[in-house]
Amino acid sequence: MSRKRILVVEDNVDNRRILVYRLKRFGDFEIIEAGNGEEALRLVAENPPDLIFMDLKMPVLDGWEATRRLRATEVGQRIPIIALTAQAMAGDEQRALAVGCDDYIAKPITDAEIVRQKLERLLEHGRPQRT
Ligand SMILES: [Mg+2]
Repeated sequence: MSRKRILVVEDNVDNRRILVYRLKRFGDFEIIEAGNGEEALRLVAENPPDLIFMDLKMPVLDGWEATRRLRATEVGQRIPIIALTAQAMAGDEQRALAVGCDDYIAKPITDAEIVRQKLERLLEHGRPQRT
């Protein structure tokens, strides 16, 4: 099995560092990072990852719009996306699914095991079929 490539898109450097640290402990992943949606789209175009963690609130291009744009491309349609939502923002979870995210994790992330489960399920089975 080839090494899985994971893209972490998050403008908050501390949050990004913590998530990357956790992912590295879960397995031997190749991890790439972006600080906004525009960088993320560029990295996906260069070399598509197997999964994306996508913060929603970011400067330049936010996660909502980056997800919409990804889902409008053939390559971007195939990549599982887990949204990183702010716990205080009620309704973001459903909105994230509506724009094309496959799952979500509320920040601050307190339960690493949940992250691992969601990650492994999507890496194994790919995007769930939704109608
Ligand atoms: Mg943010």
